Amino acid sequence: MEYDGIHQFIPTPINMKHMIVKNPDKRVKAISGIRINPGKDESLYNLVEDLYPICRSITGDGVRKSIQIIKKWIPLQVREIPTGTEIFDWTVPKEWNIKDAWIKNSNGEKIIDFSRSNLHVVNYSIPVDKEVSLEELKQHLYTLPDQPDLIPYIKSYFKEQWGFCLSHNQLTSLKEDRYHVYIDSTLKEGSMTYGELLIEGKSTDEVLISTHICHPSLCNDNLSGISVAAHLAQSLFDEELRYSYRFLFIPATIGSIAWLAQNEDTVGSIKYGLVLSCVGDSGNITYKKSRQGTAEIDRIVEQVLGHSHDKYEIREFLPFGYDERQFCSPAFDLPVGCFMRTPFGEFPEYHTSADNLDFVKPEALADSLSKLTDIIYVIENNRKYLNLNPKCEPNLGKRGLYRLTSDNKKIEINQLAILWVLNLSDGKNTLLDISERSDMNFNTIKQAADALESVQLLERMS
Ligand code: ZN
Repeated sequence: MEYDGIHQFIPTPINMKHMIVKNPDKRVKAISGIRINPGKDESLYNLVEDLYPICRSITGDGVRKSIQIIKKWIPLQVREIPTGTEIFDWTVPKEWNIKDAWIKNSNGEKIIDFSRSNLHVVNYSIPVDKEVSLEELKQHLYTLPDQPDLIPYIKSYFKEQWGFCLSHNQLTSLKEDRYHVYIDSTLKEGSMTYGELLIEGKSTDEVLISTHICHPSLCNDNLSGISVAAHLAQSLFDEELRYSYRFLFIPATIGSIAWLAQNEDTVGSIKYGLVLSCVGDSGNITYKKSRQGTAEIDRIVEQVLGHSHDKYEIREFLPFGYDERQFCSPAFDLPVGCFMRTPFGEFPEYHTSADNLDFVKPEALADSLSKLTDIIYVIENNRKYLNLNPKCEPNLGKRGLYRLTSDNKKIEINQLAILWVLNLSDGKNTLLDISERSDMNFNTIKQAADALESVQLLERMS
């Protein structure tokens, strides 16, 4: 809620007519010079489209191919960790690759074809090439009886087996026959691949943005996070950044465990972190707090969402979900929350063939990116200031506190925000503290601080 009834509280000789400065275009926002423009919707969606056909898994060429596509947007470093590498209580698994798979009936007709949907094969299936009866085949088939039109997404990383996924309707239509099952896959020594990008800022303190890259043709649960993270990284390039930004595109769970195992000594640099997942559906934003619960990132996300004028939900930490489970494991306890729209498992399309290009919306991707940009704006600009005229209120009227818009129009700075900033800038409070206490938008508080700094009434402390 913006405060808009302040007149009786302002005993200063300034113009009482105040104006809350709002950006007329919600998606055009200067953030330390970073601009998110409306054309991003299409670009965000295009990256999802480009990645959609690829069969990814926690290892293999699907991830490598995906990273090569993401590299058209940002210069990701490709990391490879060999099979068998010990990573805490886990071991990097064998590498899985697949070329083709199908089931043919006795007439030689392909009734299931991997080239039509990579969800048809149980992810990590071992190779098979044999004839089976319907009864035996059924022991290797997976369906969703409650969603009979959809193909489920099934994986078997740790048990070596083969299997196919299909709609329940198709299963019930299968007749007694001899079926030829064929999976041309390999599961052997190789490596696990992930992508990493560090954008260096003035400080070595880091902001971590992590997203998983291991799902096959599923759009919201996976590709949305990849696309939004890539575009967020792209928007930070060529900017004067206060913090360094580390982006990870990693296989879920095993990837974050591997990254933490390899970077154990330096993870203390991470001061803020967000795991992105399911950020392309039409639902509202949901934020799951870090294990710490009151970390600055938790407060910042709550501040941004609370002033966004959109519905949102904040959830407490739960040791279940995406890679925040690893980043927030007790030995690390990093300030990393999970930024989502509709959480996994809470939309019927989750882990099915219905999580497709129709389910993800360009405007939802753009809205997620826009809110993340707002969050980064607060991270970049949250600092303490010192009031240089702390003995009673300074005479603001003679100083004319305005800001200039892009077309050189003067906009008066919110006067209550000015008073809040002056009053609480005693060297102890950050702008975020002031925003929370005043219940005012961070941007409004920041504009007031900028205006006061420009007339030498305020000094930055860090
Ligand atoms: Zn998933």
